[in-house]
Amino acid sequence: METSWSLHLLSEILSAFSTDDPDNLRNAVNRVTEAVDAEVGAIFDRDGITCCIGLSPREGARLVELADARPAEVQIRSGTLHTCWATIGKEQLVVGRLGDPFDVEERSLLRAMARSIELSIGLLRAISAERHARDEAHHDATHDALTGLPNRRLVLEGLNQALAREPQGQMQQVVLFIDIDRFKIVNDAHGHAAGDQLLINVARMLRESVRESDLVGRLSGDEFIVISQTATVGAATDLAQRIIEAIRRPIVVAGTELSHSASIGIAFGETGQEAHALLENADIAMYQAKSRGRGHWAIFQESMRAEARERLYLEGELRHAIENGEIESFYQPIYRLSDRSLVGFEALARWRHRQLGLLPPSAFIPQAEASEVIVHIDLEVLNQAAGAMARWQRIDGLADLRLSSNLSARTLNEARLQQRIAGILDSSELAPGSLYLEITETMLVDDIQSTTATINGLRDLGVRLAIDDFGTGYSSLLYLKRFPVGVLKIDHSFVDGLVTNPEDEMIAGAIISLAKALGLEVVAEGVETEDQRRIVARLGSDFGQGYLFGRPQGQKETLRLIEDYASSRRHHSHA
Ligand code: C2E
Ligand code: CA
Ligand code: CA
Repeated sequence: METSWSLHLLSEILSAFSTDDPDNLRNAVNRVTEAVDAEVGAIFDRDGITCCIGLSPREGARLVELADARPAEVQIRSGTLHTCWATIGKEQLVVGRLGDPFDVEERSLLRAMARSIELSIGLLRAISAERHARDEAHHDATHDALTGLPNRRLVLEGLNQALAREPQGQMQQVVLFIDIDRFKIVNDAHGHAAGDQLLINVARMLRESVRESDLVGRLSGDEFIVISQTATVGAATDLAQRIIEAIRRPIVVAGTELSHSASIGIAFGETGQEAHALLENADIAMYQAKSRGRGHWAIFQESMRAEARERLYLEGELRHAIENGEIESFYQPIYRLSDRSLVGFEALARWRHRQLGLLPPSAFIPQAEASEVIVHIDLEVLNQAAGAMARWQRIDGLADLRLSSNLSARTLNEARLQQRIAGILDSSELAPGSLYLEITETMLVDDIQSTTATINGLRDLGVRLAIDDFGTGYSSLLYLKRFPVGVLKIDHSFVDGLVTNPEDEMIAGAIISLAKALGLEVVAEGVETEDQRRIVARLGSDFGQGYLFGRPQGQKETLRLIEDYASSRRHHSHA
């Protein structure tokens, strides 16, 4: 009885020390005083009373003063207080009563309690230190170190719990899958520190955009998640739109203003659904949003799943395609309009699929551009074409032939692009001056800082740039002066309208004369008819490319075209 009572007391005292609640400690001191039949009890150290029962503050303060002397009796207002002292670590424990002095048994009981309290405190500290370490380890394992947000594990845990709960009224779980557009490009161009800064910033903006009760997490890299409850689809899309706008606000990183966009996939959960299935739906919707351009959201629909599967299949196949040598460069000739002489070729990718046959770029370039695959394709096409062009240039009279090859935005932002292109030029023995890399104007305008560095690197190699699809983007011609651009390719949509639409003729005319004023050469794309050829020539375009002159063809057919051209030329000059 005695023992169990002490154990009970001890556990109460322990719990008092395990919390910071002063009432708990008070309760513990109460129990100690009860155990030895005292009316007064106090715990204190040199700095003062920690807890005191049955004494006025002034009387308590007097006890603190007397602690060194440890008198057996202390006079207080209500009479003579018999005391009993014990030590708990750096603190003193004192109990007192007005009746009989404490006997030997009571004194040893108090000391025993004090000693066990002391041991227990040590034990408690050790336990709490361990618990703290464990909590920290758990925190580390469930949170992302960079942003401090819950990681995939915790997100899945939280989402599973949320999905297991019965929904309240009209409320429905909604998952927003947020992906920063072109994050890898920022990271490569501005460095990882800038990338980290951006991610931290996005994490902050996400937290600020949602309600307290919503869960914000980071799944990996540049993928974030928001889990919320909404009653309507509109509330969910409003949230998505708010987030898109918040992320779009420019931030300054290392003195450079960066602005970003994010694509968001939205998926609504059903009670009992698996968390990872819901995440996958949101991911699929995000992909759909991305394909609509940057800074959009999309809501998951079942039909997207089939598309996603197809896309994954093609993407897997596509990696294969490069390894298996199924990516092939075709060549479309470009002619000088004034004398119909052959100027060069544009290299255009084709995929010779085992089952599906020859696939045009529209069947695989968009997929490839969603991943790093495009970089391999661009460099593969360039590599094949550079080798072929170097050989063609050795044919008598064709040393000046030019090669045009396309680069996508991802490739332009590829780290070490300069070195890789230098390597291709070296091994193919193609003179850098005969290579034109075609990029779109949008690629120049976006991310000027990083693009400028890359482009200057390419200029140092001696390579030239051509602006592709000119007129469809939003750059100004004057802007082009900043870059080593040699050629402007007028988009075929302008050429299409030339014969029927006088306005197109005016625009094309203005573009061409401005380009000429800037010292640029102009290629008219998509010239299909003799009428179109005549008009673009009259407007001042130097070169023409299109079905009228020749379709893109494989290497063998192209060699035949070249040989025919060379021999007709020789024939011509002999005549
Ligand atoms: P692009 O760079 O504007 O290439 C010109 C496209 O116009 C080619 O389509 C060509 O076949 C087509 N074309 C040429 N003359 C005419 C014509 O008279 N009428 C019409 N209607 N079309 C004509 P293609 O080969 O299907 O390539 C489509 C696009 O795919 C290219 O447009 C380019 O943006 C992209 N692409 C092709 N190869 C590559 C590559 O290796 N890398 C990258 N990143 N993109 C590529
Ligand atoms: Ca092109
Ligand atoms: Ca083009």
